[in-house]
Amino acid sequence: MKRAFIGSQVLTPETEYRNYAVLVSEGYIEGLVPADKVPCNYEVIDFSDYIIVPGLIDIHIHGYGGHDTTLGTVEDLVEIGRGVSRHGVTAILLANVAAPRDKLLEIARNVKDAVRRSREKVVGAEILGLYLEGPFVNPEKKGAHNPKHLRKPDIGELEELYRVSEGTLRVVAIAPELPNALEFIERAKQLGLVVSAAHTNATYEEAMRAFNAGVTLCTHLFNAMRGFHHREPGIVGAALERDDVYVELIVDLIHLHPTTIRLVTKCKPVDKVILITDAIAATGLPDGEYVLGDLPIVVKGGISRLKDTGALAGSTLTLDRAIKNMVEVTKLPLREVLKMVTVNPATVLGEKRRGRVDVGYIANLTVLDKELNVVATVVRGEVVYQR
Ligand SMILES: [Zn+2]
Repeated sequence: MKRAFIGSQVLTPETEYRNYAVLVSEGYIEGLVPADKVPCNYEVIDFSDYIIVPGLIDIHIHGYGGHDTTLGTVEDLVEIGRGVSRHGVTAILLANVAAPRDKLLEIARNVKDAVRRSREKVVGAEILGLYLEGPFVNPEKKGAHNPKHLRKPDIGELEELYRVSEGTLRVVAIAPELPNALEFIERAKQLGLVVSAAHTNATYEEAMRAFNAGVTLCTHLFNAMRGFHHREPGIVGAALERDDVYVELIVDLIHLHPTTIRLVTKCKPVDKVILITDAIAATGLPDGEYVLGDLPIVVKGGISRLKDTGALAGSTLTLDRAIKNMVEVTKLPLREVLKMVTVNPATVLGEKRRGRVDVGYIANLTVLDKELNVVATVVRGEVVYQR
């Protein structure tokens, strides 16, 4: 099936085309042509009042609409993908919270099966794999991880998870100050994984060693992380200084002050900033009591906290809202902010056919109105959501 998606603007995101059509065949982008030059054998899908941008990618999400990565079945994981497609998201990595070894193996198998299902039948955002956020993180910065399940970096456990995941384990988080961390990072890199520093009390020196060893990402920069001090800038200072390190930001305007967000955009090259949601199962649902992994949480005014400690426990942010917040707070042009949810997350994962509207790329598109509301979501050339 050949289709032409016509937009008033097409943002690639680097280049802006006016009154253009994106030509799609067999799930891939074939070309970009002026709207009046669409060949007659294409089915025209008319979004000519709207902006077509690359399909949004969220590399760090725990759940949506009552479905949770850590507790869910394969069906739940597929439903997370379907749910977030209402917010323009076309591809996700599923993140877990710390759990016992057997439970993590089960999660890895479920995610592997969900990846396969999402390839076989397009129903929403594609599931690209697992983001192992725990257990190899520091209990001193546990955030919403149950400290009972946190443990020292264990190469044997990583290898077993990798094996059962059949290549769908994509990101592994680690606190680089923990014992054996550098050997662990080296092994993870050999396996082709992205290694992210997370839930960490690393000093500046420890962070620099980790970046030199191959850590390329910082999980939700500032949150669950040693803070910046002028005499000990810590991992935050190291991550801001290193132009080669990607940083995730949760731009729900709860996890980070607007000034913090603006300072990051002043320090970091725009192509190293990635917006994530860190969204939990309560996202898309009313306030109330829920669970994250095996810990009870309370969502009040959309803010999710652990019931016992009051610590922030993920978010109820959606990626379309994150884009609006980022534009509002930084005043950056839309096409710069779009990089943070399209080409940047694709690049950190080594996904060479995602994140841009260009020939040969997977035909994942998000359609926005002028107020940046999601009008439609296209995955592999299929409209999976329309307002
Ligand atoms: Zn998370």
